[in-house]
Amino acid sequence: MHKVIVIGGGPAGMMAAITAAKNGSSVTLLERNDILGKKHLITGKGRCNLTNSCDMEGFIANIPVNARFMYSALKAFDNHQLMEFFENRGVKLKEERGGRIFPESDRSQDIQNALIKAMKTQGVEIITARAVGIKTDENGVCGVLTEGGKMLPCDSVILATGGKSYPLTGSTGDGYTIAKDLGHDIIPPKPSLVPLEVVDRRLCEMQGLSLKNTGLKVKDKQSGKVLYEDFGEMMFTHFGITGPMVLSASAFVRNIGGKLIELDLKPALSEEKLEERIRRDFERYSNKDFVNALTDLLPSKMIPHIAQYCNIPKEKKINQITRQDRHALIDALKHFTFEVKGTRPIAEAIVTSGGVSVKQIKPSTMESKIISGLFFAGEIIDVDAYTGGFNLQIAFSTGYIAGMNA
Ligand SMILES: Cc1cc2nc3c(=O)[nH]c(=O)nc-3n(C[C@H](O)[C@H](O)[C@H](O)COP(=O)(O)OP(=O)(O)OC[C@H]3O[C@@H](n4cnc5c(N)ncnc54)[C@H](O)[C@@H]3O)c2cc1C
Repeated sequence: MHKVIVIGGGPAGMMAAITAAKNGSSVTLLERNDILGKKHLITGKGRCNLTNSCDMEGFIANIPVNARFMYSALKAFDNHQLMEFFENRGVKLKEERGGRIFPESDRSQDIQNALIKAMKTQGVEIITARAVGIKTDENGVCGVLTEGGKMLPCDSVILATGGKSYPLTGSTGDGYTIAKDLGHDIIPPKPSLVPLEVVDRRLCEMQGLSLKNTGLKVKDKQSGKVLYEDFGEMMFTHFGITGPMVLSASAFVRNIGGKLIELDLKPALSEEKLEERIRRDFERYSNKDFVNALTDLLPSKMIPHIAQYCNIPKEKKINQITRQDRHALIDALKHFTFEVKGTRPIAEAIVTSGGVSVKQIKPSTMESKIISGLFFAGEIIDVDAYTGGFNLQIAFSTGYIAGMNA
């Protein structure tokens, strides 16, 4: 019987193991942790945004790196097939804003349980062991070497060890070393979907402040060109900023260090309407200090920073505020701008950008073009996507076709 070893028990490895076993192979899955899918369990804040309801065009648009490489895998096992896979196994799903698909229970554990049950049904053997190398002979792959020095013979290997982010979950980049030892090029791993550090440390005093319904632009510092634009939620932290919009911006604008972030704190109001609103507030608070007249307009943590930004003394009385001051305030509210220092380290990124070069992988099978019988699946491959369930779909789709062809 054809023997397949899957290295890595994340979503890609588990789907690969199920598919290969269903296809008639004898399958062993090696996972270094005592439990499978440690990272998978924390996805979507423990709710697991497993895919997206959009069409193929939508998927391709949400994969900024090597989207074309993903075409065959997404066609062979698309979001509808993935949803069907779980629904057929009793996991009810629901759709949320932006086409995001979650288990109805809001528990990633339910998705994980369905995968584990399917592996058991298909007779997949699960071994807790860390793979350190793949042995080859003149025909290609012939075995996997584990940390304890054991050699496990096989006919094919599916390498699904994930990327380098959140290393405590087990994804420490082992697969890159294994693939490199066999002659594959590794595109240097970089953080993507990652929080950002800011140059002006004073902004960190707003730590914990969450902004909703905010406009965000990333601009080039020299030319002022808008590189990215979004609307939604973000948060200030002890190092800078994070939240859905910020993570997406980090994935979209590569090399974001040195770029400017411009926030529109009042996106629903035009500058004229905002001026009317400010005039009304100022009439009501005409005897107050400047900072005390902004309480209806802004969260309290933000007020001192806005005052500083528009260079208006905190204690200036409202009845002494000039037209120029008012325009400086409007400018601060509509164009609050600061510089990005860089991203947080890869360990804090949601996904790793980079990995095994797609030039050395056959897109229709996920087999290596260099080593016969070696397949890749999931985040180890140099493909990454935005938030919205796209990264897990990539893991499941590549896992599926690697399993079909291994
Ligand atoms: C906080 C967080 C939230 C996320 N939320 C979402 C979300 O809601 N939706 C979404 O689409 N994506 C999300 N992602 C991204 C998603 O989790 C990954 O893209 C996905 O897990 C990649 O799957 P994978 O199987 O390729 O790798 P991993 O999930 O990283 O699995 C790799 C497995 O291989 C094992 N392994 C590594 N080296 C070895 C070795 N040498 N021997 C044996 N085993 C080994 C690891 O222990 C690990 O279990 C999130 C990521 C994070 C960090």
